[in-house]
Amino acid sequence: MNYASTRNSSLKVTSAHAIVKGLSDEGGLYVPESIPKLSKEEILGLCDKSYVERAYTVFSKFLTDFTPEELRHCVESAYNDKNFDTNNIAEITKLNGGKYILELWHGPTCAFKDMALQILPYLLTTSAKKTVDGKHIAILVATSGDTGKAALEGFKDVAGTSISVFYPEDGVSPMQKRQMTTQEGKNVNVCAVKGNFDDCQNGVKAIFTDKSIEDKLAANNVLLSSANSINWGRLAPQIIYYVSTYAQLVKNKEIEYGDKVNIVVPTGNFGNILAAYYAKLMGIPVNKLICASNSNNVLTDFINTGVYDRNRHFYTTISPSMDILISSNLERLLYHLTDENDKLINEWFGALKTSGKYEVNDEVKNKLSELFYAGCCNDDETKAEIRKTFEEEHYLLDTHSAVAVKVYDDYKAKTGDDTKTIIASTANPYKFGRAVYDAVNGGKQPDDEFELISLLEKETDTKMPVPLAATKNKAVRFTGVVDKQDMGKVVLDFLNK
Ligand SMILES: *Cc1c(COP(=O)(O)O)cnc(C)c1O
Repeated sequence: MNYASTRNSSLKVTSAHAIVKGLSDEGGLYVPESIPKLSKEEILGLCDKSYVERAYTVFSKFLTDFTPEELRHCVESAYNDKNFDTNNIAEITKLNGGKYILELWHGPTCAFKDMALQILPYLLTTSAKKTVDGKHIAILVATSGDTGKAALEGFKDVAGTSISVFYPEDGVSPMQKRQMTTQEGKNVNVCAVKGNFDDCQNGVKAIFTDKSIEDKLAANNVLLSSANSINWGRLAPQIIYYVSTYAQLVKNKEIEYGDKVNIVVPTGNFGNILAAYYAKLMGIPVNKLICASNSNNVLTDFINTGVYDRNRHFYTTISPSMDILISSNLERLLYHLTDENDKLINEWFGALKTSGKYEVNDEVKNKLSELFYAGCCNDDETKAEIRKTFEEEHYLLDTHSAVAVKVYDDYKAKTGDDTKTIIASTANPYKFGRAVYDAVNGGKQPDDEFELISLLEKETDTKMPVPLAATKNKAVRFTGVVDKQDMGKVVLDFLNK
């Protein structure tokens, strides 16, 4: 299996190369040259297997340049009960009306980013051994919250790597900040930036393209790399939980093999829902892929009209991990829907860069409406959904997952489709405790985060997960705040170069 680029379909690289490089030289995203299939026998065979075995089966079809021993090492090191609070890795909770909540937040940072970032360090160090053996890999991350912490937990104390995370000083939730500034590990660094998320992201990009930094690091045998969501090594692990969940529903006799399911995903950068599309292409019987957005509904409009237009108001919402106007992974979907037409992709994404807008052709519009349903909801509707689900079913949703459930309820009311439906739940509610408390209780809130959380625990009879509770008594290790032009110096100082 080789990988091409969305902007150069004649490119052929191995998965190890794609994972180490992250982004192709001409700015495209790496895509598999064909999508491997899972036969009926293979899917039925997965029903009685563990998550590790299911992961091994899916990875072995995509990462064909990894040896069986290497793959086994990667999946066993990542998906175990030291890193996750359940051996099932992803849990399924059944709600009324054919809804299956796929809980993707049982990892060390309580958000779905763990599903990929627990294994990425192993995929990356194994890939580096094959392509750039002996080099030290220095990971740089700009984060608006969830990715930074998940990457820190994934890379902490992984030999041959180090990681630097930059976050906007006032742009993350109190819990997210606590999680990052108390991070343990010898090879980690965390720094706040005076500015917003875009400043962090631009600062990291500037370091990647700074020749003097690159030369200095190269002389010391250090290679910069990124852990962001366009890396194939983050996307491939996300396909697994959709395959695994289908197998599990068959095993639990909730469905029979061949029954179609809907999949609903609260969407930001389009990575998680793209993984569900890949699962469908592999042979998982999927009816509709349902793309759920908050008030930043650029994807809702795109799927419904074929026009992508980022020239619009940016809303700061209570589901901040979906506050995004450029969904990078959409480029991969369009590459497949145009039958790998790199010329069209260059045209459209060139237009996105220059004018912030592009329109796809009728053929792609038709395919989009066949495959997808898209909807959105605002903060008030999100809170109302959290309250309703809690009151009716005593199940506490986080703000992102609630967007998904609300959009699904709208879809069902509109279409009458009663196909059984998997809803991706992307964060534990305690990660966004303030908005969740406000949704179920309203009224006045204590300023102190842990006081608020103990109220939420009492009033909902639920428990804060152990890794979040543990941050309360951990020492703050990282207090640095820098101007954005000093980020390069922070990286060089940390790497001691
Ligand atoms: C990152 C994130 C999302 C969005 O996922 P994409 O793959 O970017 O679409 C949704 N919810 C939470 C909690 C997240 O951290």
